[in-house]
Amino acid sequence: MATVTLSNLDKTYSPGKKDSFHAVKSIDLEIHDKEFMVFVGPSGCGKSTTLRMIAGLEEITGGILKIGDQIMNDVEPKNRGIAMVFQNYALYPHMTLFDNMAFGLKLSKTPRDEIKRRVDEASEILGLTEMLDRKPKALSGGQRQRVAVGRAIVRKPDVFLFDEPLSNLDAKMRVQMRAEISRLHARLDATMIYVTHDQVEAMTMGDRICVMKDGNIMQVDEPLKLYNDPQNMFVAGFIGSPPMNFFHGVCTEQDGKIYFIEKGATGDGFQIELQDKLAVLARKHGNGPIVLGVRPEDMVVSGSKGSDSIDAEIDVSEPMGAETYLYLITPGGNHFIAKVPADHAFNMRQTVHLKCNQERSTFFDPETENVVK
Ligand code: ATP
Repeated sequence: MATVTLSNLDKTYSPGKKDSFHAVKSIDLEIHDKEFMVFVGPSGCGKSTTLRMIAGLEEITGGILKIGDQIMNDVEPKNRGIAMVFQNYALYPHMTLFDNMAFGLKLSKTPRDEIKRRVDEASEILGLTEMLDRKPKALSGGQRQRVAVGRAIVRKPDVFLFDEPLSNLDAKMRVQMRAEISRLHARLDATMIYVTHDQVEAMTMGDRICVMKDGNIMQVDEPLKLYNDPQNMFVAGFIGSPPMNFFHGVCTEQDGKIYFIEKGATGDGFQIELQDKLAVLARKHGNGPIVLGVRPEDMVVSGSKGSDSIDAEIDVSEPMGAETYLYLITPGGNHFIAKVPADHAFNMRQTVHLKCNQERSTFFDPETENVVK
């Protein structure tokens, strides 16, 4: 069983020194056997450090790391049952593809026949069979990355670790390799842990995604759960493109109806009547400041003004083909984005009435930045 368990896992670089840095802050996470877990977050959030602690390339300064039932904190990297694929491929330029893939097995004194069998099998899976005699410089970026993956496969590890493996590829090749790695996961049935800063990679590849910020885990969930039910403003803003819109304001009750009033840089902005889910949440939260979160695709342009419509001015209209992105300004002076069908031409400075899908929208507490429940 290749379950990977992080308990209170902590990393401080240069502890006790003037330049010490607390990069990973006592995180708890269980990565299930055969799961594809993606760590995602902005630069510097601690995702690579976490992966490198699992790999044994970085000393653990607190907590416990287990793979299966075994505590791995002080176990040598080569004895952890893991294989890592790096962003820069780390291939030996003077060796053929065959030798690059066979290198680790030769070091561990695997018999020649077994090495050949494993390299042939990995090359077949990755479509490299015809090029085993070539050297890395005679390959494209995508082919080099495949060799790096092949080198991990031949070791038959319990756990594969990927550190931004597609960052050096162009956009088209990234999409292709993304699908290849997903297929590989299905075929090899191994536990895979994958680090990326690209939320599209995270959404398309992960069984579950762990979103990190400043050395902390912000949420761990399946991709769609993360998208539809973010637990805080950070996750809501990080997952999804264009990102979720946030409107700062307050809720007030008049004549039994409850309203959200936008508080903008220039004073009160739009006012919308709340229904069902948002009305219940607004009453729970009370009178204090609140943030309304609406995804760009949950905004609909409506022909007429109503008690629940946001009147906004179009700043820029970006036709994308199937849809149009409208960059808008509220009466309170806040900027936001709506993703609407491309069946209509919009003019700059035109005022439009938008309704938000209240069932799919949510409130956050501006102080804690957590979702209002
Ligand atoms: P990126 O996507 O940019 O690689 P990351 O989320 O993977 O970011 P880490 O590489 O894990 O981030 O780094 C986390 C933090 O730890 C960063 O602020 C980084 O500057 C710091 N850090 C990394 N390595 C060291 C080191 N050897 N000494 C001191 N600080 C370090």
